[in-house]
Amino acid sequence: MNIESNLKKQIITSLDKTTYRNFPMVPKVVFGPGCFSQLGDILLPMRKNSEAPFIFLVDDFFENREFVSRIPLMLNDEIIFISAEEEPKTEQVDALVTQIREKYDEMPSGVIGIGGGTLLDLAKAVAILLNNKGSAKDYQGWDLVHRPSIYHVGVPTISGTGAEVSRTTVLLGPDKKLGINSDYTTYDQVLLDPDLAKTVPKEQWFYTGMDCFIHCVESLTGTYLNAFSQSYGEKAMELCKEVFLDDISDSDSREKLMMASWHGGMSIAYSQVGIAHAMSYGLSYLLGVKHGLGNCLVFRHLGEFYPEGVAIFDQMMQKHGIQLPQGICADLSQDDFDMMINVSLGLEPLWENALGENWKEIITPARLQTMYQKI
Ligand code: NAD
Ligand code: ZN
Repeated sequence: MNIESNLKKQIITSLDKTTYRNFPMVPKVVFGPGCFSQLGDILLPMRKNSEAPFIFLVDDFFENREFVSRIPLMLNDEIIFISAEEEPKTEQVDALVTQIREKYDEMPSGVIGIGGGTLLDLAKAVAILLNNKGSAKDYQGWDLVHRPSIYHVGVPTISGTGAEVSRTTVLLGPDKKLGINSDYTTYDQVLLDPDLAKTVPKEQWFYTGMDCFIHCVESLTGTYLNAFSQSYGEKAMELCKEVFLDDISDSDSREKLMMASWHGGMSIAYSQVGIAHAMSYGLSYLLGVKHGLGNCLVFRHLGEFYPEGVAIFDQMMQKHGIQLPQGICADLSQDDFDMMINVSLGLEPLWENALGENWKEIITPARLQTMYQKI
C-alpha cells in the first residue's frame, strides 16, 4: 500500500469514527456460598492507613443478628445500619456524607454497602459524594460526576435489581427520581454470597426477583436490542425461568437468581428498560411504591405490549401463590394522575426503547392514564 492510499484510509477512518459508549464494568468479583468470610482479606490491602476507616452501610434487617459479628471490623471502622423501608434519597446521602466527614479527620479507606438495591445504591452514592463537592442532587443525570468516587464494595443480600453491576444509583431527589449515571458509580469490588439471601421473605424474594425478570423482558423486546444486551438478557431470562418455574433446590435457586440479577443488570447497560419501569417510576414518585412491587403491579397489565412476558409472569405468580394488592390508583385525583404521567413520560428513552421513535403517537397522556387506572 503506498503512502497516499494509507493516508486516505486514515482520513476515512477518522471521518467514520464511531460513538459507541465505553462502559466500565465491575473489575473484581468473588462468588460462592460462604464467601462473605473473605471480605476481611479483600479489604486489608485497600486500607489507606490506621486513621482511614472502612464504613459499612448495612440494611437494618441485620441489626442485632449473628451476621453482625461476621463483619470484619478493624481499628476505627464503623457500621451504620440503615432502613430499606424507603428508597434512597439525595438528602439522606448528603446527611451520611456530612456525618462521616465530621467524624473522621481522614477520608475513609472505603464504603461497603450490604443489603438490597436500596443499600447498594446508597453506598455507591456516598462513595461518590465523599470525593465530590456539593449535594447528591447536583449529580442526578448522566455523566455529571467529574472526580472518582472512593473505593466501594457491594455485597447484595437479595437478588434481582442488578444494582451490584450497574453504573447508576437511583435516588429520590427534591424534584425527580433519577440516577447518578457515571463511570465512577460502578463498584470496585462485588462479593456475591448466595447464603446471605437465606432470610429473604418469600413475597420480597418474588418482587425483587421479578425486577430482574422484567429487566430481561424489556431489554429483549426493546428496539435498542443488540447482540451485547441479548447475550446477557437471554441468559438471565433462562435463569429466571429455572428459579421461578422449575422445582430446584433452595441453594441452587439462590445461586441462580444471584447470577440472573448480574446478567440482567449487564443486559440493560447497553440497552434500556421499558414501559413497566417508566410507569413504576411514576408510582414510586407519587405514592412511594417500592421498585420491585411497583414493577409487578404495572407489568401484569401490560399484556398488549409484552404478551409472552406477561403470560410467563402470570404462571410464576400462580406457582408461588403471590397475591398483588389491588386498587392502588383508585382514589387518586386528576392532579395526582397528571404528576405520575409527567414523571413517566419524561423517561423518553424507556418509551422509545419499548415502542420505537414514534412512541408519542402510541402513548398519549390520556392512554397512559387509562393504563394507570387499571392498577
Ligand atoms: P430493598 O433493598 O429495598 O430491600 C427490600 C426489603 O428486603 C427490605 O425490607 C430489606 O430490609 C429486606 N432484605 C434485604 N435483604 C434481606 C435478607 N437477606 N433477609 C431479609 N430481608 C432482607 O430491595 P431491592 O428490591 O433489592 O431494591 C430496590 C431498590 O433498588 C430501589 O431503590 C430501586 O430504585 C433500586 N434499583 C437500583 C438499580 C440500579 O441499577 N442501581 C436497579 C434496579 C433497582
Ligand atoms: Zn428495575
